[in-house]
Amino acid sequence: MKALSIAAQYGLEADGDTPHFPGMHQAAVALSAGSIAAADAVMSGRFEHSLHLAGGLHHAFPDRASGFCIYNDAAAAISYIRSKYRARVLYIDTDVHHGDGVQWFFYTDPDVFTLSIHETGKFLFPGSGFPHERGDSSGYGACLNIAMEPYTEDDSWLDCFRQAIERTALAFRPDIIVSQHGCDAHALDPLAHIHCSMRIYREMPRMIHQLAHRYTNGKWVALGGGGYDHWRVVPRAWSLLWLEMNEDPLLSSIDSVPLGGPLPRAWPNIPLKSKPDVALPTTWLDDVASWVPMPRRAEITEKNKKNLELAMQHIG
Ligand SMILES: [Zn+2]
Ligand SMILES: [Zn+2]
Repeated sequence: MKALSIAAQYGLEADGDTPHFPGMHQAAVALSAGSIAAADAVMSGRFEHSLHLAGGLHHAFPDRASGFCIYNDAAAAISYIRSKYRARVLYIDTDVHHGDGVQWFFYTDPDVFTLSIHETGKFLFPGSGFPHERGDSSGYGACLNIAMEPYTEDDSWLDCFRQAIERTALAFRPDIIVSQHGCDAHALDPLAHIHCSMRIYREMPRMIHQLAHRYTNGKWVALGGGGYDHWRVVPRAWSLLWLEMNEDPLLSSIDSVPLGGPLPRAWPNIPLKSKPDVALPTTWLDDVASWVPMPRRAEITEKNKKNLELAMQHIG
């Protein structure tokens, strides 16, 4: 009983989201070390961009685990950048859940700007990330939350995201961008209610990449994040991120042919330990024309626009 209550105190209860397991400390430390190494690779000048897909555990707090996250590797990497290099960090969180752990960690820090786009906390874990959360004391203004309505689709999501990151980068003038690439805002993701397609996972990395070359001399560290449709969404989304970071020539065909063209032929033939219980996608992008359009599209778009305006009132 006593051990149970101690576990609960640290967010590690056996029947919770983040149950304790043998070796969890070593695993979580190794994962955080990967994000710190990725940050060092960029800040030291050895590489312009780096990617650590095991990272992006944005819900963990300094004193407790939360939402599948034990230690907050993103906060650790940003703290490392601050203490070793004194660089100003723009953190961009594209996961469908609010990047709460990172936000609260730097809430009073004027040199770390946390920007998160997510489904509104009215309906989704962790229940925070509202437009009025803007940082506190000397960190006031260095926090932006874009809370999107359930059933938001590509155009509205991308429009809000573009405006938010452009205005933030212009006002904040970061030295480096650290981005979190959870890909659970896809319509097929089982945890959230956003109705976006693979197009946002082609476009958001491209926008962040352009921002990095405009504002931070290319300094860009990308991390993974959530994503719970393991067969149809995550492999495509994170491959598109990797291709973008490398300016891979494959992107020119993905951008010019319908649905991005076919996925590499090797993909459906990868030997799998467990068979997916769904048909694997055959193209890079989704055929949204075949999807049922969301009712209330205009209303949702309008509400997102209003929320964004409210959230950005304090951005210069
Ligand atoms: Zn998530
Ligand atoms: Zn580049």
